[in-house]
Amino acid sequence: MYNPKSTKAEEFISDEEVLESLKYAEENKNNVELIDKILEKARLGKGLTHREAVVLLDCNIEEKNKEILALAEKIKKDYYGNRIVLFAPLYLSNYCVNGCVYCPYHAKNKHIPRRKLTQEEIKQEVIALQDMGHKRLAIESGEDPVNNPIEYILESIKTIYSIKHKNGAIRRVNVNIAATTVENYRKLHEAGIGTYILFQETYNKKSYEELHPTGPKHNYAYHTEAMDRAMQGGIDDVGLGVLYGLESYRYEFTALLMHAEHLEAVYGVGPHTISLPRIKKADDIDPDEFDNGIDDDTFAKIAACIRIAVPYTGMIISTRESEKCRERMLHLGVSQISGGSKTSVGGYFNPMPEKEESAQFDVSDRRSLDEVVKWLMELGYLPSFCTACYGSGRTGDRFMEICKHQQIHNFCHPNAIMTLKEYLEDYASPETRAVGEKLIEKEVQTLENPDIKSVVEKDLVKIHAGERDFKF
Ligand code: SAM
Repeated sequence: MYNPKSTKAEEFISDEEVLESLKYAEENKNNVELIDKILEKARLGKGLTHREAVVLLDCNIEEKNKEILALAEKIKKDYYGNRIVLFAPLYLSNYCVNGCVYCPYHAKNKHIPRRKLTQEEIKQEVIALQDMGHKRLAIESGEDPVNNPIEYILESIKTIYSIKHKNGAIRRVNVNIAATTVENYRKLHEAGIGTYILFQETYNKKSYEELHPTGPKHNYAYHTEAMDRAMQGGIDDVGLGVLYGLESYRYEFTALLMHAEHLEAVYGVGPHTISLPRIKKADDIDPDEFDNGIDDDTFAKIAACIRIAVPYTGMIISTRESEKCRERMLHLGVSQISGGSKTSVGGYFNPMPEKEESAQFDVSDRRSLDEVVKWLMELGYLPSFCTACYGSGRTGDRFMEICKHQQIHNFCHPNAIMTLKEYLEDYASPETRAVGEKLIEKEVQTLENPDIKSVVEKDLVKIHAGERDFKF
């Protein structure tokens, strides 16, 4: 029985409700009257239900599809302006006891070199990341209670926050580790993590069990209810995602939005972010062996429909995707991207020769962070290294309140300008700096509130003189 308020996986992600929604969408994909009504509601910028959103996803009327994409772009601009937040993944350990058939870390893979960073190695990685200019990391680890217990993750987080190198500091550590207990989520919360990210991989229970044949991750309910436990443990920013390619994208899209509705219904706050990963080639993994791969157009449509359905949820795209694909997704709704990423354990400080690499998947966008920053600015975006909301306790429902009232510009825009200025002063190449200085001049002029504008102008001078970490 479908019940978004239930904390039982099979009730808030009811298979029956997903299938009925898909049937409804199939029946209505050419229903202009209904599509217009949904678009009218969507234009209010308050989101859509999963059923409404999947009708838009399925819609195959060319003219309406153009309207859908244009609306996604508009909502993106209204809620996020031209800001794009930057981050990097940090792989701590690829020891893993699970059997996920799409992941090279699966326990049966005997030819991938297994590595786990020591605290000293984490320091070296973090210094390398700080020297690139990163302020925000997502730590990644396989699941292995012996090699990577929660104590190891907590110690690593402490190490990361403790490193102050030149003007650098990691100000927000997001965490992407396997589903765990309320008690462990509480410990992660107390360690000061930003967002807890866990990809569902697939919401389809039967496929989930086949794709995760062995190990603790096999348990569908335990995995699907992880965000509930995270919230109960005090973490109020959670990040959802499915791995596109494993199951039918229509099923995943609908269920993902049902998951968001469930979090909103029970905890009063939807997901902080939704990631959009597609399965990629990796050691021992051939993406062509999976039947549900999606092309770039479908991927773009998914991003647009998510943007419309949950306007206040950040969307993330990683370097799994190419420059070209990322550019398109940025226009349609993505608000955070990684840059200069390495997906191998120890890949930043001491990369191994490629054939000995422990990379989790092939990276398509191999540009440096400096190149990504320059590229974003040339596309008209404002790269942001801001972590102020987190530092000021604007998380969970407090963040969402600000977001839903479109107040976020008053904080985010000036903070993006100032953190970009820090980046330009400390890390940018001369070419990137030249583009950035011009952009900052232009962006300051767009600050509507004269008090905010005056503070920003003064702070920019102070940043140039060597002071750091100004924020609203
Ligand atoms: N081990 C943790 C877990 O099980 O949730 C999280 C860390 S794992 C390093 C991060 C994500 O990488 C997984 O959730 C999965 O979606 C994704 N991933 C695994 N294999 C992949 C592949 N071949 N291509 C793209 N993404 C992949």
